[in-house]
Amino acid sequence: MRHLQILGLISTLICVPLFASQNPTPPTPAPLPPPTVSVDKYRATAGRIIGAALVSNHAYSRLAYLTDNIGHRLSGSKNLERAIAWALAEMKRDGLDNVRGEKVMVPHWVRGEESLELSGPHSLKLSMLGLGNSVGTPAEGITAEAVVVRNFAELDALGEKVRGKIVVYNVPFTNYGATVQYRSNGASRAARYGALAAIVRSVTPISLQSPHTGALNYDAEQTKIPAAAVSIEGAELLQRMYDRGERPTLRLKMEAKFLPDAESANVIGELRGSEKPDEVVLIGGHFDSWDVGQGAHDDGGGVIMAWEAVRLLKELGLRPRRTIRVVLYTNEENGLRGGNAYRDAHRDQLAKHIFAIESDSGTYRPEGLGLAATAPPQVRSNLREIAKLLTGIAADGIAASGGGADIGPIMREGVVGASLDVEGSHYFDIHHTASDTLDKIDPRDLQLCVATMAVFAYTIADINNF
Ligand SMILES: [Zn+2]
Repeated sequence: MRHLQILGLISTLICVPLFASQNPTPPTPAPLPPPTVSVDKYRATAGRIIGAALVSNHAYSRLAYLTDNIGHRLSGSKNLERAIAWALAEMKRDGLDNVRGEKVMVPHWVRGEESLELSGPHSLKLSMLGLGNSVGTPAEGITAEAVVVRNFAELDALGEKVRGKIVVYNVPFTNYGATVQYRSNGASRAARYGALAAIVRSVTPISLQSPHTGALNYDAEQTKIPAAAVSIEGAELLQRMYDRGERPTLRLKMEAKFLPDAESANVIGELRGSEKPDEVVLIGGHFDSWDVGQGAHDDGGGVIMAWEAVRLLKELGLRPRRTIRVVLYTNEENGLRGGNAYRDAHRDQLAKHIFAIESDSGTYRPEGLGLAATAPPQVRSNLREIAKLLTGIAADGIAASGGGADIGPIMREGVVGASLDVEGSHYFDIHHTASDTLDKIDPRDLQLCVATMAVFAYTIADINNF
């Protein structure tokens, strides 16, 4: 279980749009085989799907209900339970096939009250959010001198000098994959030298005093110390004070704790295939979110667009030869139990999962798919052909790599997977913050994402020789 948790957390950290660009070694471009699929007969259908998506506000209305009437959805919360019950009822109303919840036990972390203040040489409340899965502090808090470092090398150089202190990582954002290491591993790295707590500059390029939460990952070998994110402004202030030798002192209070695991579910609905119903094209995103904001971009939009793609196909009377299955995974953010449970529950069917698409990069203008770098060249060649159906909305890219946290477990079992890629240059401005709210989503971008998801899913599920 411990092992699964760690795997889950690692996957959580890579659940981002820049997944592809963080890989330092670009794949060597090899010539692809000619496609074995012919898309000509799909042009008219793709046109119908795109047109229908662009004149419908159904997905946006549904996302508005999810975000405004249910709200954020952390694993174990009542909100997530309500969201799951709502989705099951609505999918049945949509007339999807085989609608069901597949039970998953999820971690139940609760934040509680929390605060961070500068307590010396003067007093100031700092904008903060505890990191997900962190332990709490004693009721009176932890008060200690801050030691501010710009990277792990500076921490290692200080070594035992941080014993009894609070380590502050003031690490500027470069890319998510590199910068998030401090959020995920900073606490245990500091604990190794006897630090009492860790404070991490929020993983974002932009800040309006906004702290960003996200999961941390404790090293089983080290003492678990509490950790929280501070805004860029707060981290820079502490850096300046520290550099001037002012010996800033911090008081961190966190009530964070784990309750017993809670019952949750992956929500599943299908459009059964007309000829090969056992062959499955899987689409989806994660239904849980952090316990701040509304989980609109992360990942309300992702689940709604996948769900809407299937509903729209049904409304248009388009039933592909293979089954399209939509999955709203639970517990991506702080455990990945949903993605792992899906793999375990469907292990004997994975050989017939012919493709999987995950949307978890925010709901922005779609650019195409990020196809797993390990995908067979023939699949890449065929997918490039299918993508031409989306040239009219500029969503015809097939990036060199991609995937997703929730489909990661089945991809490791051999299922070919891809991410829905979007223009995500502002995703990290609001990622895991109180500002991840519906107003940040452009309804037209959501329509375009639905169109992209539906055209890919339908064509892959229907075409010969994929
Ligand atoms: Zn996400």
